[in-house]
Amino acid sequence: MDWTADRSTALRRLQEFAPDAGRRYASSRNHDTGPGRSNVSQLSPWLHAGLLSEREVLAAVLTHHSPSQAEKFVSEVFWRIYFKGFLEQHPSIWRAYCDDRDAALADLDDNAGRRTAYNEAVEGRTGIAAFDHWARELVETGYLHNHARMWFASIWIFTLKLDWTLGADFFLRHLMDGDAASNTLNWRWVAGLHTKGKTYLARQGNITRYTSDHPEGSLEADGLTSEAPALEEDRDHPRRDLDLPDGDLPQGRYALLLHDEAASHAPLALEQPPALVIGAARPDARSPLPIGDKARDFALQAVAKGVVSASEAFECPSVDWGHGDRPEDILQAQEIDYVVAPYLPVGWTRDSLWPRLEPLANSDRLTQILPELARQTWPEARAGFYRVRKAIPDILDTAGFS
Ligand SMILES: Cc1cc2nc3c(=O)[nH]c(=O)nc-3n(C[C@H](O)[C@H](O)[C@H](O)COP(=O)(O)OP(=O)(O)OC[C@H]3O[C@@H](n4cnc5c(N)ncnc54)[C@H](O)[C@@H]3O)c2cc1C
Repeated sequence: MDWTADRSTALRRLQEFAPDAGRRYASSRNHDTGPGRSNVSQLSPWLHAGLLSEREVLAAVLTHHSPSQAEKFVSEVFWRIYFKGFLEQHPSIWRAYCDDRDAALADLDDNAGRRTAYNEAVEGRTGIAAFDHWARELVETGYLHNHARMWFASIWIFTLKLDWTLGADFFLRHLMDGDAASNTLNWRWVAGLHTKGKTYLARQGNITRYTSDHPEGSLEADGLTSEAPALEEDRDHPRRDLDLPDGDLPQGRYALLLHDEAASHAPLALEQPPALVIGAARPDARSPLPIGDKARDFALQAVAKGVVSASEAFECPSVDWGHGDRPEDILQAQEIDYVVAPYLPVGWTRDSLWPRLEPLANSDRLTQILPELARQTWPEARAGFYRVRKAIPDILDTAGFS
């Protein structure tokens, strides 16, 4: 698998996979056949980095299949949009995750037993062969199959009884597609915190069955617990109303900001060209702990290449926004008034950039743009996925896919 962090590799992988996104995907997607796999798209790193949009993925797939043939794949893409919209409306979940993760990390320093158990898990030394295999695969490749993520999270929480936020942090530090919404909410889903009381239990029989075509043979997972009691939390996460930007571009010269979740100008289909491209990659904001090489390199390369490509396409200069720089100073040096930024969703991308962008937003010098699919879907992402699932045909219709 070629994981080059640029748009042309993303488009190539999309063209290669799209013919298989119909019934073949639906019937084979649950099998983890190891790193040479082709039964799932593996598009998530490029989707997360905004080198490819959900709209482009759906358009390519729906040229090969009807919406009903590709229903399973289409609905997976909508899970991604749903989780983004859900976190946007429940931002305290992200804040609580960060606080609880920091407390759990501090606790490791005070508790030698838990520190040992944590180290064994992240270094793949628990003695549960399948789990240890996935821990190493994650660190070495920066990717895990969806089913492996579910089994891994379940074993972490219910068999090893480790704090779920530390597992989510381990994923976020190593996944090339590490995403505040999909990662946090999927971990919460496994733990029984997302759909309250409903947990996911990893079973040896299920792992054996769905890893039967693995190059190492079916993966062993001896000694798994047979119980997965839902975790509980002592706080509510009230829903806040969405406050979506209207997305109108400002009149005059503007700078386009490319960041970890929007590293390419191409999916944005801008009506007016920018006068400057600003690149701001912040992969280290994912965690207080060091970020894995695969995840870090993917993010840095995606933004660096995206900036070069945008600057060539619009024949304008580009600049790297260093950690200490004030965006006002960058704008002043280039005689530019406004910044246009692809939407900064709740999570570490926003946490790392917003404090410096807020003064611009307060003086009406920042415009955020949001893809139409998110604008249509997020209002349905208030609670469970069922509302989004029901709305998919109408959303596809409005988006011109009927
Ligand atoms: C514990 C756990 C943590 C996860 N963390 C992340 C994460 O940090 N970032 C991330 O992008 N996905 C995450 N996922 C969701 C899912 O595992 C990956 O999106 C998927 O495995 C990516 O591989 P793919 O591109 O081959 O997916 P495909 O099966 O080809 O699906 C196509 C696309 O649909 C989306 N998608 C598929 N399944 C899901 C799902 N369950 N939730 C949200 N979107 C989905 C992805 O964008 C994916 O690229 C997590 C799942 C679990 C159980």
